Amino acid sequence: MMENGQRIRILDGSEANLRLLAEALASGNLVAIPTETVYGLAANALDEAACRRIFSVKGRPLIDPLIVHVTGPAHAEKLAFLNDMAVLLMEKFWPGPLTIVLKKRPHVPDLLSAGLPTVALRCPRHPLTRRLLQISGLALAAPSANRFGYVSPTRVEHVVAGLGERIDYVLNGGPCDIGLESTILGLADPEKPVLFRPGAISREVLSVALGRPVALPMPRETDAAPADAPGMLKRHYSPNTRVTLFDHGANLAFPASVGKKAAIVYFTRPSYETDVAGPAVFWLSESGRGEEAARNVFDLLRRLDGMGYEGIFIEKAPEGGIGDAINDRLTRAAAR
Ligand code: AMP
Ligand code: MG
Repeated sequence: MMENGQRIRILDGSEANLRLLAEALASGNLVAIPTETVYGLAANALDEAACRRIFSVKGRPLIDPLIVHVTGPAHAEKLAFLNDMAVLLMEKFWPGPLTIVLKKRPHVPDLLSAGLPTVALRCPRHPLTRRLLQISGLALAAPSANRFGYVSPTRVEHVVAGLGERIDYVLNGGPCDIGLESTILGLADPEKPVLFRPGAISREVLSVALGRPVALPMPRETDAAPADAPGMLKRHYSPNTRVTLFDHGANLAFPASVGKKAAIVYFTRPSYETDVAGPAVFWLSESGRGEEAARNVFDLLRRLDGMGYEGIFIEKAPEGGIGDAINDRLTRAAAR
């Protein structure tokens, strides 16, 4: 199917299509793939030229390493040196939204890891992408399928909107279940687990599973990435419209200057209707559940970004669990 002049083809997950996509990947093409976190832009991880194309299509700086998607621990072992802690977590959380950073084997291209001695590995849970990994037999490097710095794609139409003119294929797997990028845990030194990025699998849960505390990376003062957490930029996931956050549960006093031209996004649907002339009201969840808010956050940011508001005011999530991951993304979306 061609979308009004765009080059991208949207394919459903029939066996014939998966074979076609596996061949496209094997011959060095890029394919956007669904995962339970966000849509990824995939290439054969061991094909350096194809991986280089990921960076150029996204406009992603080469200092920002890629996550490699595998079928499971045995596949991971071909690319990295596993340790007991890593195996324990793979057995508990794979397939699922946990990326583990480990020492890489020498044949893994430096381009993937931005020159680091480590590689980030994940086994996704989405059935179509699992099948594609299986059919192709490839490890797939895949960052989010969007232009660098913009809001990550959680629906096939987000991929088409952002990359439709730049890539040949997107595999349609429906809306993403989780809606936020994976948790990233550094385990190159199993004695010192480090949380590089919060996600649906929380730091608390990982600490319990490992039986030891999980550290945070060194604090970041500027956009120059700290040595142990490359690519974690202060400003990221950003709509073009200015985003301002307010505390969970706080009553926002609106600057008179914004008035009707602003959108306000509550964490939970408000229990009352207001018809006061003022900002347009939206919410991240009906239920107040973090998982529901996580699933909606990027889609809502994209929709609001297209509606011409002068500002978007967003209530933070409650702290803890997936709330920390939501707040991490919101804080980066609001950074200037
Ligand atoms: P994404 O842009 O969602 O694909 O996530 C990629 C992120 O994973 C990068 O921006 C890094 O923060 C992190 N990452 C990937 N590889 C490594 C690595 N070898 N060491 C530390 N962090 C990594
Ligand atoms: Mg991304």
